[in-house]
Amino acid sequence: MKVRIFDTTLRDGEQTPGVALTPEQKLAIAHKLDELGVDAIEAGFPIISEGERKAVREIANANLRAEVCGLARTERKDIDAAVGAGLGYIHTFIATSDIHLKYKLNLTREQAVAKAVEAVEYAKSRGLQVEFSAEDATRTEREFLKSVFKAVTEAGADRIDIPDTVGYSTPQYIAAITKDAIEATHLPVSVHCHNDFGLAVANAISGIQAGAQCAHVTINGIGERAGNASLEEFVMALQCLQFENKYETNINSRLLYDTSRFVSKIVGVQVQPNKAIVGENAFGHESGIHTHGVLSNPLTYEPISPEIVGRTRWFQVGKHAGAHGVSAMLEEYGIQPSKEQTHEILERVKNLGDQGKHVTDVELLSITGEVMHQEGLRRLVHLAGFSVSTGIGNMPYAFVKLNIEGKDFIGTDYGVGPVDASINAIQKITGEIAKVRIKEYKLDSISGGSEALCEVTIKVEDAYGNQASAKSVGEDIVITSVQAMIDGINRIMLKNILKQKNLGP
Ligand code: MN
Repeated sequence: MKVRIFDTTLRDGEQTPGVALTPEQKLAIAHKLDELGVDAIEAGFPIISEGERKAVREIANANLRAEVCGLARTERKDIDAAVGAGLGYIHTFIATSDIHLKYKLNLTREQAVAKAVEAVEYAKSRGLQVEFSAEDATRTEREFLKSVFKAVTEAGADRIDIPDTVGYSTPQYIAAITKDAIEATHLPVSVHCHNDFGLAVANAISGIQAGAQCAHVTINGIGERAGNASLEEFVMALQCLQFENKYETNINSRLLYDTSRFVSKIVGVQVQPNKAIVGENAFGHESGIHTHGVLSNPLTYEPISPEIVGRTRWFQVGKHAGAHGVSAMLEEYGIQPSKEQTHEILERVKNLGDQGKHVTDVELLSITGEVMHQEGLRRLVHLAGFSVSTGIGNMPYAFVKLNIEGKDFIGTDYGVGPVDASINAIQKITGEIAKVRIKEYKLDSISGGSEALCEVTIKVEDAYGNQASAKSVGEDIVITSVQAMIDGINRIMLKNILKQKNLGP
């Protein structure tokens, strides 16, 4: 069965506390969602502002494959604003629970039904496709909810949506009222679930199993309060778990991670590390037992292959690590310690872990260097030339010359400051060669005074999701940052070269 994905990242997602997007940002996200393969995009709530109408209009006119929808209360002016924004499809809603009717709308049940019917009839008279939501449906008296759905169906609604507005439903209850809605309307039914009790995805799936054809979801599960059902979790659960029926969506799952990062960056809401599918740790392994299992067969501790959602697995060493994990991580850098050396490296890693210290690949490589009495890693990238200018009245500007495996590359760029300009110039070179970008940048001052030492820690990532960390200490913030960046690039390129070698015949 094909399940329709109605994405509301740009409407309910934008209602996340503290989030506001410009029309340009909304349009960029809409294109990304379209590429991902969502069936419908709720672009916004046109009545609320001029900028919102502009954003909705641009998305409606962007020639997307997805249907574009806008939110409207059951008010003529809201519906007119949607038409004015170029929409042919609205999502109109009125609350139907007694608590909302009494304390928010000050309407009787009969008055609410009359308003709903009038709005649906008006929207149909304006030629719109109408999806009707009974807000707070899951706290609405069950028989009354059925009669509301029946009334709007007779008024011409095309689709019915069941919003679990405050995440109050159980999977059993949403299944029951989904069946009610289908029976009362014979229309396509959607479920719109919130995550106040962490059940949004479970409730959405339960609605689908009960016969709903569509779920309202958001990227990264963003939305009001605890958020909405997360698109990536919902889609992957339908695709990968065992159900009586087989479910499919039009989502290209390989784009999920990239879309998640894109939205997180623009919206400014970080994804929690332990979030399913798209969280930093979703395909990371540290414990020795797990690492050993995954190295011999990934299915031991991974329910799905990370590639399916556009990711790669990673290992980290720490106090739970084992020899297999340490060897595997070092092998990524082409380092093969003896059995005794591995044992000693592992001991030192565990010592650090017992002191509560986080062991990144920076520490692992430096420990390995000490144990093996080696200079360190093979270096592919060398800084061959560098200058930066900064001041007042001129944009900071950097010139960088890198030697990569014997060939010189030159990059120049501007930035908001000298560090930014230098990193931009480096990325101009490596963007083409290795598609490396900075994921994290942290600057600490080690001692006081103007000749203080600074410590720069960075994490870089390439287009394949490979990551590497690097740390550099020095007196000059700009040069120290450039060195950390080059170390990071070096590590990530080394990983890639060795990976390709291992894959090759
Ligand atoms: Mn909502």
